[in-house]
Formats: sequence, C-alpha cells, structure tokens
Amino acid sequence: MSGKRIETLLKQRSALLKELGQNAWLLRGTWVERYSTCMRQGCKCHQGEQHGPRHYIAIIRDGKQRQVYVRRQHEELVRAGLSRSQTIDDILLQITEINLDLLKVGAYDNDV
Ligand SMILES: [Zn+2]
Repeated sequence: MSGKRIETLLKQRSALLKELGQNAWLLRGTWVERYSTCMRQGCKCHQGEQHGPRHYIAIIRDGKQRQVYVRRQHEELVRAGLSRSQTIDDILLQITEINLDLLKVGAYDNDV
C-alpha cells in the first residue's frame, strides 16, 4: 500500500469520525407497535378491534430489554433517532474496514 493510499484512508477516517460527532440525536433500539384490550365490558376491543397502535421504543442494555412508551408528538423524532443509529452503525463498519486496511500495512497509530 502506497503512502498516498494510506493518506487517503486516514482522510476518509477523519471525515467519518467527524460525521459521528455530528449525529447527537440518535436512538439505538427497535420500534414497537402494540395493540391492547381494555377492562371495559362490551368494548369493541373484545371483538377483535383492539386499541392502538401504541408505540414504544425497545432498547436492550446488559441483555435486558426495556420498552419506553413514545408519545404521539414524539414519534417522528424517535423514528429519526432510530434511523440515525443505523447510519452510525454503517459509519462504524466503514471505520472498521479502514482500520483493518491500516492494520494490514502497519500504519496504525502507536498511541491507541
Ligand atoms: Zn377496549
């Protein structure tokens, strides 16, 4: 790998790192839709027309899942955060590939 190629990789990596820093509004989780039945006798929900959907974001931490209710007025924001976290995953993967290339030619930082 030429010095020029290494330089290009380092530049690409810097750009990706910068992009990471500009994505503060992100949410790592899964969008969940729930329907439910209520306690009222004779309510239509007992004939198959359940209430909902209500939306939640499911997040997993230390192997435990937690679902947090999402208010209707926050739905768009939450969806945007979830989609941004996919972008972050993609950026991390790109950085990984660059770092693997750098590792191959021994062009990694010594102060990792
Ligand atoms: Zn009901």
